[in-house]
Amino acid sequence: MERVLIQAGTPREELCRMVVALRSRLQLDMVLNRAIPASYLRKQGAVKRVDAPAPKRVWGDVVDRPEQTLAAVREELGDCRRCPLCKTRNNLVFGEGNPRAELVFVGEAPGADEDRQGQPFVGKAGQLLARIIVAMGLQRQDVYICNILKCRPPDNRNPRPEEIAACEPFLIRQIQAIRPKIICALGTFSAHTLLKTDVPISVLRGRFQRYQGIPLMPTYHPAYLLRNPGAKKQVWEDVQKIMKVL
Ligand code: URA
Repeated sequence: MERVLIQAGTPREELCRMVVALRSRLQLDMVLNRAIPASYLRKQGAVKRVDAPAPKRVWGDVVDRPEQTLAAVREELGDCRRCPLCKTRNNLVFGEGNPRAELVFVGEAPGADEDRQGQPFVGKAGQLLARIIVAMGLQRQDVYICNILKCRPPDNRNPRPEEIAACEPFLIRQIQAIRPKIICALGTFSAHTLLKTDVPISVLRGRFQRYQGIPLMPTYHPAYLLRNPGAKKQVWEDVQKIMKVL
C-alpha cells in the first residue's frame, strides 16, 4: 500500500485523526451490537426519517418454526444423544423456573452438582446466584435459569463448538417459548455464545445488548465472583440496571 505523508498540525492531519477515531468507534459499536441512534444521525442530517416496516422476528436456526411450549421443547430434546456429552453425563440439565419469567439467566454448562441433581445452578455458584436473585427482590422460582449446554463437559472443561451447535437450537426455543423481558448472560462463555463475539466480558458487562430482539445484560459468572469477590460490586451495578427495566 502506498504511504502518504501528512504534515503535522495541518487541517488534513486533524481530518485523518477524526476518521481513524470514528472508524474505531464504529467498529466497537458493531462488535457490541450497538446501533447509532437514528435520532442522532437525523440531527446530523445523515438520514431521512422513514417509517420502518414491522421487524420480522428471526430466531437463528428456527426461523418460521411455530413457537413451542417449554414442555414441548423438553419433549423434543428427549434423552438427547446429539453430542458425545451424553456418554459422560449423569443427568441432562434442561433448565428450571417460571415458564413465564420476565428474566432468564443463562449460564455456561452444568457442573458436578448440577449433573448429579439434574438442576441448574445448585452448587456453590448457584447459591450465590440465588442470593443475587433475592437481592433483586425476586425469588428463584420467579425467574428461569438455564445454560448454554445441557450436559456437563467432563472435568468442567470448556464447551466445544460441536456441543454448542447441537445444544443451542434448544436454548433458542426455550427463550422463544418464555419470551422474557430480559436475558442475563452469566460469564464469558454465555455472553460470547449468545452475542457471537469474543469481546472480553470485562468490556461487555454492564451494557445492554440485544439477543433476538430481547435486551441482554452480560455480567460476571457467579463462579468468577467466588474467586474474585471484589467484582460483586460490578455485578450489583449490572443487576440494578436489569431491575430498573423490570
Ligand atoms: N455453572 C454454570 O454455568 N451453570 C450451572 O448450572 C452451574 C454452574
